[in-house]
Amino acid sequence: MVQKWRRYFKNKVIVAIVAFIFAVALSAIISLLKSVETQSLLEQESLTPAFNLVSEEIVKPLFIAETIARASSLKTLMNDTVIDQTAIEQKLKDLSKEFKMEFFVANESNRTQYNSDGPSLALDENKVEWYFRAKKTKHKIVGILGNRQDIRIYYDVKVHNDEGEFLGFIGLNKKLTTFINAFDDFKRQYGYDFVFVDHNDNIVLSSDTNLVADGKRILQLNQLPWYAPFISRRNNINHYNNYLVEVAGEDLLIAEADFESLNWKMFLINPLKVRQIAATEDFAIQTVYITIAIFTAILIIWLIGKSLQGEFAKRHQRDPLTQLPNRAHLAWHYEKVARMNKSIAVIMVDLDHFKDINDTYGHSAGDKALCEVATLLQSFLRDIDIVARWGGEEFVILLPAADITIANHIADRARTVIAKHIFVADKKVIQITASFGVSADTETSNLTQLIDSADAALYDAKNSGRNKVCSVKQPVRSNPQKSYAHG
Ligand code: GH3
Ligand code: MG
Ligand code: MG
Repeated sequence: MVQKWRRYFKNKVIVAIVAFIFAVALSAIISLLKSVETQSLLEQESLTPAFNLVSEEIVKPLFIAETIARASSLKTLMNDTVIDQTAIEQKLKDLSKEFKMEFFVANESNRTQYNSDGPSLALDENKVEWYFRAKKTKHKIVGILGNRQDIRIYYDVKVHNDEGEFLGFIGLNKKLTTFINAFDDFKRQYGYDFVFVDHNDNIVLSSDTNLVADGKRILQLNQLPWYAPFISRRNNINHYNNYLVEVAGEDLLIAEADFESLNWKMFLINPLKVRQIAATEDFAIQTVYITIAIFTAILIIWLIGKSLQGEFAKRHQRDPLTQLPNRAHLAWHYEKVARMNKSIAVIMVDLDHFKDINDTYGHSAGDKALCEVATLLQSFLRDIDIVARWGGEEFVILLPAADITIANHIADRARTVIAKHIFVADKKVIQITASFGVSADTETSNLTQLIDSADAALYDAKNSGRNKVCSVKQPVRSNPQKSYAHG
């Protein structure tokens, strides 16, 4: 018994371990797929505000500058032989009010710069260095950054008249405080850095304060640690604009975007470690949850399988000698019919003096007789009835939808059939009889009570001379004596 339990427990543990390993493996695959999804989502989530910010703070002013420069009103004023200073200043003020940025005109003919936010100033070659530098470049638009204390972006758009004569610059400047603050937050949240470089690959703007020109020095793109591996990667794979590079053991994903009209390039430097940690945490949590879910599901399926298996086994359990249903099968059958039938009767059959038959003709003759009795009992039962071998030379007949009268009648028929049957052992005809105890119940019974009552009746049958049928109407609640008086 202990061994059986040990084996049962061992089997359960093995099934649980296998189920657990399976659950972990499956959930790891599911979470991996999910984490790829999360990773992409995270990437999108982190990139979207960056692009919005760049578009709002950098690209939009650029297009405004270009549009204003192309529009004729300021250009016409700049093309006049006598410059109408008041008209230019008024126009600049109107623009500033409308776009919430500062506008200016750097006029070539009188070498004067007019500003929406301050007095006009002379474009003196020694003082206003940008004007002459910008004038010299071949680019139509020049973007310049102010100093870090009051960081502003300046867009200077070259203006020519219809004859192609250079009239000066129309431009705007916009405070980048919002941009810098937003990118600081952004950097804290997602770990990104960005770098803007001009046409000379000079760094003009970056979220990394160490990289921004402070007036004394200008950093070049190729001075950045990721640049060399980035360029070699880009030259190898030239159809992407995302490159994975390794710098000092850290993986960086570099995204490159061109601002063609400005001849600027923007780089987003994305340290993968930060997001890998987030993704790994997600992965771990998901794996745990999915493991629990799958493991539970497997256990439930296993338990259902087990109970179905038990059900199947009970339904098919038979006594090896007579091939009749055994006790477990009988109990299962009873549960099934008891649900549908109010009245169930039980007949308990015990062969008379069977020990003597064994003793006289041998055990195998006894076995043969038991099989013949089994066949006889089955031969006249209804489809819904069942006869089981209770043990030894005892049988139980279960009669659903039968009252005590029907059961008595059936028991008596069985008694007659057995008594009349010709059993042969050792080439001799032997007489075998059986005693019958009958019980029936209409309401409260369970199988044990019915059998106990039938057994009690059988006791009476034995005591009243054997080869008899006795019955009780109500099942008894306690176990009757099991030994019969021999007569
Ligand atoms: P009674 O019931 O009339 O009081 O007498 P009995 O001799 O039948 O009763 P008892 O319970 O003393 O003996 C039952 C005998 O049934 C004992 C055993 O030898 C025999 N028996 C039980 N199972 C088997 C079996 O599987 N094969 C054979 N051949 N004999 C069996
Ligand atoms: Mg017996
Ligand atoms: Mg007997």
